[in-house]
Amino acid sequence: MNKAFVKDPEPLEPTCPAPEGCGGTGEPVSDETLVAWLTEDLRASLAHEAYWCTSATCEVAWFDAWGTSIPITVLRHPVWPKHPESPVCPCFGMTADDIETDARNNDPTRLRSLIEKSESPAAACLTKTPSGQCCIPEVRRLYMRWRVAPEEDAD
Ligand SMILES: [Zn+2]
Repeated sequence: MNKAFVKDPEPLEPTCPAPEGCGGTGEPVSDETLVAWLTEDLRASLAHEAYWCTSATCEVAWFDAWGTSIPITVLRHPVWPKHPESPVCPCFGMTADDIETDARNNDPTRLRSLIEKSESPAAACLTKTPSGQCCIPEVRRLYMRWRVAPEEDAD
């Protein structure tokens, strides 16, 4: 059985509620993350299973399966990718500009150091990022994008 090109099963998870939201899927967010980011009232407005909208252009931050959404205007400070100038890694502060500069110079020093730090107790992804996810996969993705195709923008 060749599984190399088997696609993920169709997503069953809820989508970011339009028209405020983008209609895309999100990443499940834990209570610990929501407690860190939201007032009790806002948290209570969301169902137990809540999701972070990963779209850079969408103005919805979190949503649930019942069509409730919380806009990015409640975010206490700018966050990646909703605000492209903010750090991709809020724990240690690497921005997309930093990553692009290093990738174009083919210099993974800071990336390696960031990966090391991300595995240390100083990393607080669960509460410092609004998705609760570690930023390293995103940092790697950006690095590879700019390293592999320096003249092309993603389409
Ligand atoms: Zn959205």
